[in-house]
Amino acid sequence: MAHDVPFDTMPSLDGDSLWRRLEQVVDIGNRFAGTPGESQCREHLLSEFDAAGLANVRAEPFPFLGYEPRGASCEVVSDTLALRCAPLQYSADAVADGEAIYLGASRPEDVAALESRGVELAGKVVVAHSFMPWLVAPALAEKNIAALVNVTETGDGLIPNFLVSFYPNGLDAPWDGRVQSVPGVTIEKEQSRELLSLMSTRSVRIRVEHRAEYAEGTSANVVGEIRGSELPDERVVIGAHYDTQLEGVGAADNGTGIAALLEIAERWRELQPRRTIVFCAFGVEELASWGSYNYCRQHVAELNGTRGMINLDALGLPLPGTRVAVADAEMAPFAVESAGRAGYEIEDEIDGSAYAWSDHNPFIDAGVPAAWLWRFPPQHPFYHSAGDVLRYVNAERMLDVATASAYVGFRMAQAPELGLGRSRPTKRFVDLRPPA
Ligand SMILES: [Zn+2]
Repeated sequence: MAHDVPFDTMPSLDGDSLWRRLEQVVDIGNRFAGTPGESQCREHLLSEFDAAGLANVRAEPFPFLGYEPRGASCEVVSDTLALRCAPLQYSADAVADGEAIYLGASRPEDVAALESRGVELAGKVVVAHSFMPWLVAPALAEKNIAALVNVTETGDGLIPNFLVSFYPNGLDAPWDGRVQSVPGVTIEKEQSRELLSLMSTRSVRIRVEHRAEYAEGTSANVVGEIRGSELPDERVVIGAHYDTQLEGVGAADNGTGIAALLEIAERWRELQPRRTIVFCAFGVEELASWGSYNYCRQHVAELNGTRGMINLDALGLPLPGTRVAVADAEMAPFAVESAGRAGYEIEDEIDGSAYAWSDHNPFIDAGVPAAWLWRFPPQHPFYHSAGDVLRYVNAERMLDVATASAYVGFRMAQAPELGLGRSRPTKRFVDLRPPA
């Protein structure tokens, strides 16, 4: 069967150029929301979008609830043992102590197993493993726990930075529900073994202190486009976040996605696509996708004509996790088929509307089919820590997934008939749908 938009009609990405773009982003340094590195990266993006010949290049400002750590500590009271820790972002600016209780991976079934044995979580300091603490913290806070101690598997004495609240929505002051009611920290791997050993022998009391300042900040999305030649009012969004977590240069997360976004824009400069292609570099993803949510809020009128979105986030992870398509039900078959034509065989699908993860979520909420090609679980030894540096980026895998992602976008922009309806979320986090 003839393919609607053959893969070899897409201008290909250049691996060397992609790597150079990654180096340029990494050279800027840390790009955490509200820092000079973040603004410097925005300037870099504006000039690169201009250099790629994109039309209508602009920065679109939005407000967000800024986070500034002011110190965190975690102490085993009975043994006066201080554990090395990092603050859990968007946890309460508070101190609390209580009896420690181990909750495994703190999945709903772990909670149910404990409760079925008559164990109360209220007033306890919960010690648990999770690389997505924002998915578990709100439910634990509702059970009136005293504090949360997140256990990291990250090696080399590094502690990854995480947040504990993606939702509820609170996109404007007073930011309802953004800050959890309990304080939290993440503790270092070696010391977590010591702590769990102590906890296995007797009852242990833990004191957790988390100090932070929460204040309104302003960031901006950087946007540019290639106008469609036949259907200019139909849009396809290609997006990647440019901020990093609190520490490190964010080489994989998300220098790689930004490098891919810029490389695609440059290679497609001669293209006269059927539909308009919108290139979006989102701000403040790491503190809960503020940029992409605000993009959807600021473009409500356009969203009805926005046919699809592809997200570029944390490409080129060093260890070979399963190749997954994270997408809503409408987009999933299209993304899987497109990736396969580009030589990226999807091994598993994850419902992109079930978890609040990255910048595809707001588009799905807004009714725009969206996908993120990824490897799962995120196999990076130093994920979200100062160890996310260039030497752990796999250049070949970055090019593979960037190419496959680009083709999903290319096909959406070029196909005469798309066969994509509105997104069908199984769970809507924020209702961003434009009026019908
Ligand atoms: Zn990311």
